[in-house]
Amino acid sequence: MSLIAPSPRPSATSAPRVLVVEDEAALSLLLAYNLEAEGYVVDRVENGDAVELQLAEVPPDLVILDWMLPGVSGLEICRRMRAREATRQLPVIMLTARGEESEKVRGLAVGADDYVVKPFSVPELMARVKALLRRALPERIAGQLTAGDVELDRERHRVRRAGRDIHLGPTEYRLLEFLLERKGRVFSRGQLLDHVWGQSAEIDERTVDVHVGRLRKALSRGREPDPLRTVRGAGYAFDESFGRG
Ligand code: CA
Repeated sequence: MSLIAPSPRPSATSAPRVLVVEDEAALSLLLAYNLEAEGYVVDRVENGDAVELQLAEVPPDLVILDWMLPGVSGLEICRRMRAREATRQLPVIMLTARGEESEKVRGLAVGADDYVVKPFSVPELMARVKALLRRALPERIAGQLTAGDVELDRERHRVRRAGRDIHLGPTEYRLLEFLLERKGRVFSRGQLLDHVWGQSAEIDERTVDVHVGRLRKALSRGREPDPLRTVRGAGYAFDESFGRG
């Protein structure tokens, strides 16, 4: 196997994942289309009974939840999500055809973060999705990621350390972005291959070591501390204490 890796898949690592729970197929498709255009990864479920399994198998970053569903109702799904540790903080926007103030109060009482009455304007819903994600995932949405004197500017695709430009290849850039978004978490070589290179990539795990080595070399000059941590037998992490003195 070659140590020369193909370029990583774009946007696979940092795009927030939105679960659309809606039984009206046309509306579900419309939402998926618009969410994907905003750069999100979208999963769709049409029956309330399928939601729990979906949440467990593919955890989303936000849920758009219709109130009236076949199977378990949106209201009950939201109540159950709030009762469970794994989904307690998960942002939820409830959709409903009812516009009564009392219904809205019920929706918010079970823990929905926002509540939108049908028919709604798609751009307005997209704005609410964005606002909620910005609050819930500041690091994943932010245009700029910073740790100590290391800055990664997503819009300009630029990395700087202590004010100087750091030139990275596309793979090193994606690696740094991925680790910086998840400071302190340790990823195995296999996990990094899945997330940074893409699941279809059949690459030797040593490739990861090669690219981490290049990233390290590019990031640190002289006696500057190394922000990347090698965890023996486990993998790599961006040091969460980096830059905290
Ligand atoms: Ca419905």
